[in-house]
Amino acid sequence: MRVIKELRSPLNRLFIFETDDGHRVEAVFYKGERLCVSSQVGCPVRCVFCASGKNGLKRNLTAEEIVSQYELLKGELPIKGVAVAGIGEPSANADEVVKAIEKFKSEGLKVTVSTTGYPIEGFKKLMGAPHDGLTISVHAVSEEKRRKIFCVSVPLSQIFGELEEFFGKVSSSKRKKFQIGSLLIKGVNDSDEDLKALGELAKKFRMTVMLMAYNRVPGVDLEGLTEEEYERAFLKLREMGVRVTLSNRFRRDPLGGCGTLTISREV
Ligand code: SF4
Repeated sequence: MRVIKELRSPLNRLFIFETDDGHRVEAVFYKGERLCVSSQVGCPVRCVFCASGKNGLKRNLTAEEIVSQYELLKGELPIKGVAVAGIGEPSANADEVVKAIEKFKSEGLKVTVSTTGYPIEGFKKLMGAPHDGLTISVHAVSEEKRRKIFCVSVPLSQIFGELEEFFGKVSSSKRKKFQIGSLLIKGVNDSDEDLKALGELAKKFRMTVMLMAYNRVPGVDLEGLTEEEYERAFLKLREMGVRVTLSNRFRRDPLGGCGTLTISREV
């Protein structure tokens, strides 16, 4: 694995790596302290808004390759934490991701993971891994809508059924490490009904909701929310008594936004 290119914006630094067999993956250094790494070459989930998953899955990364993204950069960047939230679905490569999490933890790093929960066997492994935070990217509560957003997915009833069982066995401090993520797309999952269902799910499981902004991806005919609409969604959930966070400016940056990492970028 080697770094073949770096792109910079005023907020983030994006690194493109080439694996020994010629595949490309990316990592983003953001907030001046965190590195978001990839877990697969491509992605099987193929979210409708995401450039990274457009061409499906090419192959899993090994734990060594996931850790290499950090190892190759740690000498020049003040990395304090790692997010396994770049290209790929961590649950679909859970064994290698868990090994990588253990390695990152042994280096004293904070590790967070984002997953859609597909497949459920992998999700179960990630729940019990020694992470410092796991975001379940639901993107919508209605299964009909979820089927339009994800090419493959596990029903939320199954994901949250497993979570409920897991929550019953662990301490409240461990439970607090789990949150719900939803990337808001205009006209797709931002209606009052969608937000109400999201808020009810979060309240039931006492979880924080992270509302993510959609960054435009070339060739994808979807629109994000305006600042006002995004703020309205935030207030709507807060009025329901839900803890909510919004995408920060680092994530809203074109080099840092969810779904904007892409293997199709010119190198
Ligand atoms: S957003 Fe994540 S899970 Fe969805 S296709 Fe992109 S990389 Fe895969």
